Amino acid sequence: MSNHDRDPILLTPGPLTTSLATKAAMLRDWGSWDASFNGVTAQVRAKLAAIIHSQDSHVCVPMQGSGTFSVEAAVNTLVPRDGHLLVLINGAYGKRLARLTAMMGRRSTTFETADDVPTTAADVDGLLAKDPSITHVGLIHCETSTGIENPLREIAEVVAGHGKSLIVDAMSSFGALPIDARTTPFDALVAASGKCVEGPPGMGVVFVRKSTLERCGGNSTSLALDLHDQWTYMEKTTQWRFTPPTHIVVALNAALDQHASEGGQPARLARYRANFEMLMSGLRELGLRPFLPPAIQAPIIVTVHAPADPKYLFAEFYDRVRAKGFVLYPGKLTQVETFRVGCIGAIGPGEMRHAVNAMRDALAEMGVRDVTPAGAARAAA
Ligand SMILES: *Cc1c(COP(=O)(O)O)cnc(C)c1O
Repeated sequence: MSNHDRDPILLTPGPLTTSLATKAAMLRDWGSWDASFNGVTAQVRAKLAAIIHSQDSHVCVPMQGSGTFSVEAAVNTLVPRDGHLLVLINGAYGKRLARLTAMMGRRSTTFETADDVPTTAADVDGLLAKDPSITHVGLIHCETSTGIENPLREIAEVVAGHGKSLIVDAMSSFGALPIDARTTPFDALVAASGKCVEGPPGMGVVFVRKSTLERCGGNSTSLALDLHDQWTYMEKTTQWRFTPPTHIVVALNAALDQHASEGGQPARLARYRANFEMLMSGLRELGLRPFLPPAIQAPIIVTVHAPADPKYLFAEFYDRVRAKGFVLYPGKLTQVETFRVGCIGAIGPGEMRHAVNAMRDALAEMGVRDVTPAGAARAAA
């Protein structure tokens, strides 16, 4: 059977491969005023909150747009105009958070570690002790540009200990890595429809501590990205403030039912871990080397060193692997040449084994023999 008559499997960190049931949920039209649609919105908010046990402490505010829209809305709504956000950076999403904070006219300070060095609770403790003008801290839980996991729980405890407010970008971890709002203190946590909950992309969500959000009216410098207004309007009317992404909401509702019936977050993590282990053993077989050491690598997305062989070109590798039915992701590092493979989406280790075979065959077709890492990493290897 040819792979050309079906969609390729997306080994990308969102959009990702969704199940047939999730896709089928999009085959209906819904009116934004209609009670049946607004009932679905309420269900989606409750199901999302249950994943991180936040229903008693936080409100779940959905937001139109890709994940970045919700990150921007969280900063814009939570950080007062005279606030000061400390942004913890070890990759592209941390840099994006610092950039959008500056563009909204909020004061920010950045703390950057290398792409393969997690931020530690001790780092944050020192930074907060040194600068009492900091009011908020921004953290990327899983930095998708490499796949590194930052220690959310430890950092959250330190931030709370200093009496500061924590904003977490949990976009690529929510639904798969364990997060518990009852034991991990944060004021806002941002997730999206099209990552580990395996819905289609197009909607974000911010869990905001209720007592915090109640005091955030008037902070926003944007009409559209105002979580306080979105929340109060939705509480009053049950409706979204502006046109809702109806098909995304109903598909996400279906995806969340599958998340629950699979066994919730622990089962989702177990499947992704099985995908990840299959990928890692495959990479070992092929002689390809992952960028991160296993101890700090989340089983969400893996960054792989590009082969040194001059016959290797990412664009050709990508096209050949795609022709075999799998979509890879380019690297995002500036110092070393890499590519990325996502472990998330409605796939299992069987598909991942086929993906490894596709990579092996593509490299052989290209005549790539020297798979040792290219460039700077070679000296370090
Ligand atoms: C996907 C992602 C985002 C949001 O990116 P969009 O392209 O706006 O969806 C933000 N942060 C992290 C860590 C992500 O993985």
